[in-house]
Amino acid sequence: MQSPTVITRLQWGALPFRGELRALGTVRQIVVHHAAGYGAATRQEGARQVAALQKLHQGPLCNCPDIGYHFLVDAGGHVYQGRPYFRGETLDELPQFALGNHVLNVDSHKLGICLLGCFHAEGGECSDTPTPEALQALEQLLGYLCRGYAVRPSDILTHRDFVATTCPGEKLYVALGQVRDRLSLAGGYPAELAA
Ligand SMILES: [Zn+2]
Repeated sequence: MQSPTVITRLQWGALPFRGELRALGTVRQIVVHHAAGYGAATRQEGARQVAALQKLHQGPLCNCPDIGYHFLVDAGGHVYQGRPYFRGETLDELPQFALGNHVLNVDSHKLGICLLGCFHAEGGECSDTPTPEALQALEQLLGYLCRGYAVRPSDILTHRDFVATTCPGEKLYVALGQVRDRLSLAGGYPAELAA
């Protein structure tokens, strides 16, 4: 199983993690988010935006030890590493993940993936359409993570499934339903075979 190419923290110029890394534990769910005000399409611009999000999350607004998510995907379909891995160096090794900060107070066992962009319905204050490149990269990443960590596609959820928020925007919410259906149809997920 080929792992998606991930732009590492070193490659996007991450600041060091602050504090003590904690383990995520067994991956049970994958939660998808969006990031309004961002929307890079190139790797260069994406690296700048991911670094800006890290500064925001480490700043007074969040006071988090690091960028909240485990992965970020830009409009060009580039995938960026978020949190450092808890154990392991590369995605190929199926690393153990560090605990993130992306769903208030219930982050244990949840991987967080953020699409750079604002995907509210038309007429909202911002309304990007997820690009085919972004959705393809997201689907590939989700498929790899579901297979590698035995997560059922039905356990791919979104921020709004947990707390009162519009994140990840209506357009991404709908698109993600289609991604989930395609992954389910493709089958071969360990958790499903065992169920
Ligand atoms: Zn969110």
